[in-house]
Amino acid sequence: MAKWVIANWKMHFSLTEAESAARQIADFTAGSPVKIGIAPPFPFLKTVRDAVPARVMVGAQNLFWEDKGAFTGEVSGPMLRSLGVDFVIIGHSERRKHFGETDEMVNKKIRAALEVGLIPLVCIGETLEEREAGRASEVVKRQIEKGLAGVAGRILLAYEPVWSIGTGVNATPAQAGEMHALIKGILGDVPVLYGGSVSPENAGELARTKGVDGFLVGGASLLPEKFSRIVSEVEKSEVQK
Ligand code: PEP
Repeated sequence: MAKWVIANWKMHFSLTEAESAARQIADFTAGSPVKIGIAPPFPFLKTVRDAVPARVMVGAQNLFWEDKGAFTGEVSGPMLRSLGVDFVIIGHSERRKHFGETDEMVNKKIRAALEVGLIPLVCIGETLEEREAGRASEVVKRQIEKGLAGVAGRILLAYEPVWSIGTGVNATPAQAGEMHALIKGILGDVPVLYGGSVSPENAGELARTKGVDGFLVGGASLLPEKFSRIVSEVEKSEVQK
């Protein structure tokens, strides 16, 4: 299965910084067999799309499920497609936490993305409280059942335990392996990326973990050199497998 490394820039960078970081990521990863993606903030999408070759996928970090209408502040799938956007992150835990996104909303967004030919990159994962209560599997199963109802098989998934996002505490290979196996057990052989404090230091071991098909990278993706070292670790892991 193909391997992916996707940058989630969240709400970082100025326009010029985004353009420069995108160019550097494209240069550093030229010739790599790994599928590279960059998800900049909405206002930088067109600039980033124009700055990188077609092999680098460009994605949005969110979309709204209606195509158009009186929805102040929202951005639709057709709008993203018209900018040449390839994929869209849906259901990131920061959107679930700060913007009240539910599994039902995630499902509507996935359908809207598929409708216009955007690849949905759907994030799922448990909080620390849920893991400590022994409910990690139950939570992820619920997110799959409700969020992916009727759309499974046409998406990319990211298992992102909430407690590991931006904390410097990554899931161990055993923890990631267990959850990726659970997800693939339910959905079949869908690509499942791991996300949560991925760095050049931990990427090799995680990339060699069965069921891990690449990474969704937040913090480390803001430094193109670090991001490309993660890509190199994924390449190396393929050779070692
Ligand atoms: C993310 O936000 O998707 C993420 C994985 O962040 P970080 O790499 O900073 O933990």
